[in-house]
Amino acid sequence: MINVVNWLHMTTCDTYMIGEVLGYLRQRFPETCRHWFEEIECVGNESGVVRFFVQEDVQLKYLNRCCVSEFTEAANKVFGDGVSIEFTNERALDSSLGDVGPRETTLGGFTQSGFEDDMLLSQNHTFDNFVVGPDNRLAHAASIAVAKKPAQAYNPFFIHGGVGLGKTHLLQAICRHSMEMHPSMRIYYTSCNGFMTQFLDAVQEGQLSSFRHRFRSYDLLVIDDIHDLSKRETSQEEFFHTFNSLYQAGRQIVLSSDAPPNEIPDLEERLISRFNCGLVANIDRPCYETRVAILKSKAKLRMIDLPDDVSSYIAAKIDTNIREMEGAITKLQGLSLVNDSPINLSLAKKAIGQRIVSQGVTQMSIQGIIETITTYYDLKLADLLSKRRNKSIALPRQIGMYLARKHTRFSLEEIGGYFGGRDHTTVMHAVRTIDSKRGEDSSLDKDLLRLEESLVGRDFVASNP
Ligand code: ADP
Ligand code: MG
Repeated sequence: MINVVNWLHMTTCDTYMIGEVLGYLRQRFPETCRHWFEEIECVGNESGVVRFFVQEDVQLKYLNRCCVSEFTEAANKVFGDGVSIEFTNERALDSSLGDVGPRETTLGGFTQSGFEDDMLLSQNHTFDNFVVGPDNRLAHAASIAVAKKPAQAYNPFFIHGGVGLGKTHLLQAICRHSMEMHPSMRIYYTSCNGFMTQFLDAVQEGQLSSFRHRFRSYDLLVIDDIHDLSKRETSQEEFFHTFNSLYQAGRQIVLSSDAPPNEIPDLEERLISRFNCGLVANIDRPCYETRVAILKSKAKLRMIDLPDDVSSYIAAKIDTNIREMEGAITKLQGLSLVNDSPINLSLAKKAIGQRIVSQGVTQMSIQGIIETITTYYDLKLADLLSKRRNKSIALPRQIGMYLARKHTRFSLEEIGGYFGGRDHTTVMHAVRTIDSKRGEDSSLDKDLLRLEESLVGRDFVASNP
């Protein structure tokens, strides 16, 4: 009897209903929607709980992390007030309902057996979604070669480039593609910080040998942002041995960094030479044509209609970081919703105009940054540029170098020159320090926002007398 009732409820949860839910989400929460939402199935509507089924762990994690209230609102509109929702990657166990029973989690049709549980790969980071241009062609081609023939093409394979230029995207695409080509391979992707945390936990818990056993058993080990090893002596030592052991056993190692091996500050010489012994490929800032192509591809993934003049406008305005371009699309989507207007050039001007990465800011001068910093922190110019290392001077100095790197076109060497003749590794260290502190320290973040705002104002006044 219960089954019959359930079955009746189940019939009210069909492709039409899920279509309604998705339609509502796209209208109300476009920035939350992903192209794979099309694959979501509704597998039950029992006792006021609507169950949505996805195949992959990453999808499930995304839904649970970012979409619970959005789906609840949509389900209440479509199924009636008071329903709650549940995301699952297991089908209902009751075979009398015609379901197939628990399923193995799959990755594009491949079992995820070679993946570790804690490994999160973004759905969108595939080779198919990666736009190739002159600035990333070598890194892209070599990534494909490595994914096809691990440990035969280039080993180690080292990608370096600035923030938001596609390193993580390529690393994750290598993992996915390798998994499809070689389903039985043991693959692990983690950030360098992930590696170090696991190492330090293992040391603390007396589990070092199982940590070593695990890391030395992978066929493909991919470590993102390896520059974070800088200054971490014990972790460098451990990584050196992991590297050697994998390398000697003919396993593939893939690494990414924001600088080439010999420019990573405080990295042991023996690691530098290991990193340099395979292929080192650079990703540069994308040229205008690549930026336009990337914008179009991102819009398509989000099912947005981006007119040509809008993509040209954004590509002309934002030229340093692809993540920033994605941010602009999100902002446009939001504005289009709030103003109930289609995405067009005037809306784009409004969206980009409000962003700090506007034309004016890219032209910010280092002199302006230095003056703003000394005023804001009430410092003497001579102190800011001196060798003094008191925190009250060193922090503003690091902030200045960070802002200069972020908002001007000057090289690390040039910025070092302006800030009292420091070398490029000091600048790089400052940029990283402030970048990571900014994420953790909200008062620092506020200071930075204020500084950035006053720099924008200053620049605006200067260029519009
Ligand atoms: P990085 O690791 O170098 O800081 P990411 O790989 O995280 O940068 O890239 C930032 C964003 O830009 C991601 O959403 C990524 O998908 C996108 N992206 C970067 N390069 C490309 C590209 N060539 N084609 C499509 N998307 C790209
Ligand atoms: Mg990255």
